[in-house]
Amino acid sequence: MKNTSEKLAPCTRCGSEQIVAKTWTENVPNLVGTTTVQYSIMVCTNEACQKEFDQNRLKEKEKRQQLQLQKEERTKNNAKKKA
Ligand SMILES: [Zn+2]
Repeated sequence: MKNTSEKLAPCTRCGSEQIVAKTWTENVPNLVGTTTVQYSIMVCTNEACQKEFDQNRLKEKEKRQQLQLQKEERTKNNAKKKA
C-alpha cells in the first residue's frame, strides 16, 4: 500500500499544492475477470486557479455538446437531402 500522506505533485497550472478531493475504486472487467482500479480527483489549493479550471472544464463540456449537436444536425440534414 502506498502512503496516503505522500506529497502530491504541485498544480501544473499555478504550482500551488494540490489535495485529493475524492478517491474511489471501481471494479473494471478485463479478460480474466475484474480488476480494481483506483480513481482520485485532485484539486488545487489555490481557489482562483481551481475555479478557473472548473469553468474551463464546463466550457469544454459545452463545446463538445455543441459539436455533437451540430454533427447530429448535419447527419439529419444529409439524410433529408438523400431521401
Ligand atoms: Zn493551481
